[in-house]
Amino acid sequence: MSGRIEVLTIGDELLDGAVLDGNAAHIGAALAGHGRAVTRGERLPDRLDVLVPALKAIAARADVCICTGGLGPTDDDLTLAALAAAAGVERAFDPAAWARVEQVYGARTPPARNRSQATLPVGARPLHTEVGTAPGVEITIGGCRFFALPGVPREMRWFLTRYVLPALERGPRRVRLLRHVGVGESTLAERLDGVALPAGVEIAWLTPLPEVHIKLIGDDPEALDRAAAAIKAATGPAFVGEGDIGLAAATLRACEAVGWRIGAAESCTGGLVGAALTDISGASAVFDGSIVSYANAVKHRALGVPRWILDSPRYGAVSEECARAMALGARQALAVDVAVAITGIAGPGGGSPDKPVGTVWFAWAGLPTAPGPDGVVEPTVAEIRRFSGGRDAIRARAVAHALDRIRRAALRRATPGPAPTTGSSR
Ligand code: ATP
Ligand code: MG
Repeated sequence: MSGRIEVLTIGDELLDGAVLDGNAAHIGAALAGHGRAVTRGERLPDRLDVLVPALKAIAARADVCICTGGLGPTDDDLTLAALAAAAGVERAFDPAAWARVEQVYGARTPPARNRSQATLPVGARPLHTEVGTAPGVEITIGGCRFFALPGVPREMRWFLTRYVLPALERGPRRVRLLRHVGVGESTLAERLDGVALPAGVEIAWLTPLPEVHIKLIGDDPEALDRAAAAIKAATGPAFVGEGDIGLAAATLRACEAVGWRIGAAESCTGGLVGAALTDISGASAVFDGSIVSYANAVKHRALGVPRWILDSPRYGAVSEECARAMALGARQALAVDVAVAITGIAGPGGGSPDKPVGTVWFAWAGLPTAPGPDGVVEPTVAEIRRFSGGRDAIRARAVAHALDRIRRAALRRATPGPAPTTGSSR
């Protein structure tokens, strides 16, 4: 039974901030999909005096260790040397491993330097590659099975699927990820106050901006189903989707279900609404385009926002009037059913006492609206929000708010019920 699984990612670039440790994240997710959990992970520099004692400690503690990085042909690639030293063995040239490297190079002769990649710790098994030049290596030290994989993420993933996961018994652990938008973590937690989770289901909270994720972990799929259903009932429309389905995908699905085509006019988000939607394959079934109207001149020329709004000290680019005009202009220019406009102050500069950093005006043209108290139906719905955080957070929250209102309106349209409540905020 391979109970304790550790992950060791190797490379100076992981410690000095040059590269994010995506390998560890991918391995953790792949193991979760395999019903298993990583029990410990660490990142270490390309230094033998650090690697060798760390490998010995892992060998004494763990059943399996997945290492990435340091298998290349350059002098800073030390993983094979460190594994040999930790195992107390020599390294020997492995003609079979070298033959595979030669095979990868085809008609060309591999550089002599690459021979180091085929000079393996004695007792190690080469893991042959079809995706790069570096073979991976498997070696058992002190009862712990080490899988050393290349650092290049695409190659690492190939080795993980081809060699490591099949060597690990599938575990019972199941994870369900329920994603939410438009409510904070504490509000969501309050809504779950009365919800009793079935025994054996653990809950974890994650807040990858701008979503709030509830992770359910357990061994019994039936109990997880019941827990997920109870949470969805309590969180209502704040729930956007599960697993890979986040806000953008959910918005596209909801719009597709009611036959809406959508577009945007973006100022402070600079195209992030378009980027979020086009991240999803198949977005063209719903999304037509986004006009990035950062400059006032473009708001005027491309969207038809009147000069008097843009130039007026009373209104200006960050105003309800401007947002409404942008939304109408985008809806017409893009010939879509629904267009959202975003104009705000993402900071850190540009704020003023009446329009502090984080102030964002939104308008949606084409959403179903109820008549106002005077019986008039506004052609647009407008709303102001004051977001907190830095520039990235403000922009991410603005994108989420813009999409979420469309998603919720499409869901209401799809489920006939009480009259829509998307009134004007005027
Ligand atoms: P190569 O044969 O390319 O030299 P290698 O096994 O020696 O492969 P490294 O040199 O450690 O691997 O890393 C190659 C590249 O892969 C790095 O420049 C880095 O961009 C990326 N990389 C390495 N480790 C990680 C990691 N943990 N997460 C994400 N990317 C990584
Ligand atoms: Mg390298």
